[in-house]
Amino acid sequence: QSWYMQSFQDILEFKDRDVDDEMLKQDFTDAVIKIRNRHNDVVPTMAQGVVEYKETYGTDPITSQNIQYFLDRFYMSRISIRMLLNQHTLLFGGKIRDNPAHPKQIGSIDPSCCVTDVVKDAYENARNLCDRYYMNSPELMLEEFNVKGPDNSMAVVYVPSHLYHMVFELFKNAMRATMELHEDSMEYPPVHVQIVLGHEDLTVKVSDRGGGVPLRKIDRLFTYTYSTAPRPQMDTSRATPLAGFGYGLPISRLYARYFQGDLKLYSMEGYGTDAVIYIRALSTESIERLPVYNKSAWKHYNTIHEADDWCVPSKEPKDMTTFR
Ligand code: ADP
Ligand code: MG
Repeated sequence: QSWYMQSFQDILEFKDRDVDDEMLKQDFTDAVIKIRNRHNDVVPTMAQGVVEYKETYGTDPITSQNIQYFLDRFYMSRISIRMLLNQHTLLFGGKIRDNPAHPKQIGSIDPSCCVTDVVKDAYENARNLCDRYYMNSPELMLEEFNVKGPDNSMAVVYVPSHLYHMVFELFKNAMRATMELHEDSMEYPPVHVQIVLGHEDLTVKVSDRGGGVPLRKIDRLFTYTYSTAPRPQMDTSRATPLAGFGYGLPISRLYARYFQGDLKLYSMEGYGTDAVIYIRALSTESIERLPVYNKSAWKHYNTIHEADDWCVPSKEPKDMTTFR
């Protein structure tokens, strides 16, 4: 909380100041960079907070639901704020104009983001991690389809780092599931990726044959801190873990939803999982989606949870009031 108070104060310093003053511009950019760095560790810090809360007060379904609702909105606004902070530093920090790697990018936005390149890049990096943990990794099978014909490029207006984040998480999950299931056979079915550019959507499907997840558990995978992997050490000197914080799916879904897309998991338990990222193909539709705090949001935390309106087989209707 003190980080947020400090950053708010830092920003207020610039209220009513002369925007044309060159020195001031530099000071403002410096302040923006400082704020961004101050908040680098918000996600692991909040995660630790949630763990400590649960250890101290225990958990009940209503509190868990409220934490989930809060974190989804909190992290969504964090994605937005960091996008702005980044955009400002890239455009006014003086480095972007001589960035040879991405000459066409406008700050963090790529007006012709090549989805295939981002997918391949994320695959290679996930594969390196996987090799390190399992001494081996599944191959990639990539398929593309463009509704406008095969000669058109698979490009959209997007923030490549957001897309990278999502596919990287999906690859790590697909690889872990595949390696865990086929550990003994020494033969690993490939991870199959389909990229489809349609009139409205750009869809990326990552399919694995890692044994899948039963329908009953699918929603749970998107809750913060849920993971079936052992919890990695928070020690930063250690190698990046392949899994274990349980933040991969929920945060990736936020990135997808941030520009009006979505991320869904379809599983065939006993076989494998399809994870699908939906992105708006038209930049005019990729509008920022932000939470607002109003009466409806407030109600969310204060709904009276009465008896369930669906029957539970061979049980009385659930009395949710006891969980409060
Ligand atoms: P983490 O990878 O850190 O555990 P995630 O949010 O990425 O966190 O995933 C949560 C859990 O969902 C995983 O621990 C795993 O049990 C399950 N899961 C995710 N993707 C797959 C998949 N492709 N196949 C099987 N299980 C999966
Ligand atoms: Mg993961």
